[in-house]
Amino acid sequence: MTDAFNYDAWATALERGELLGGRCRSCETTFGTPVMVCPDCSHRGLEPTPLSETGIIHTVTRIEVAPTGFEGPFFVGIVELEDARLTARIEADSDEPEIGDNVRFAGGLSEAPDGSVAPLFRLE
Ligand SMILES: [Zn+2]
Repeated sequence: MTDAFNYDAWATALERGELLGGRCRSCETTFGTPVMVCPDCSHRGLEPTPLSETGIIHTVTRIEVAPTGFEGPFFVGIVELEDARLTARIEADSDEPEIGDNVRFAGGLSEAPDGSVAPLFRLE
């Protein structure tokens, strides 16, 4: 684990199946996606911290027409963890994911043409 919480650290961890967040060294707020500056107090030092891997769906959207390189339809949403909130892909076997459903982190999903990785959650 590195000292700095940036996109590379976050994406590398995701590829290994780890969900990292950044904790502000000043106000101790935790964020689920890489930020260089704390949105709460403008402090510049965020350190990587493991996030809880279960949460609930805060919002969810069905993407009917997938962007080039993706297979649709699929679901994206904001997942509310105990310690942070983040945008993620949400996978459901048969049911449509709904607000308030329980989800669990299922690793990093890299299917974007540019090689970027996204957090993937599955309905519990
Ligand atoms: Zn802060």
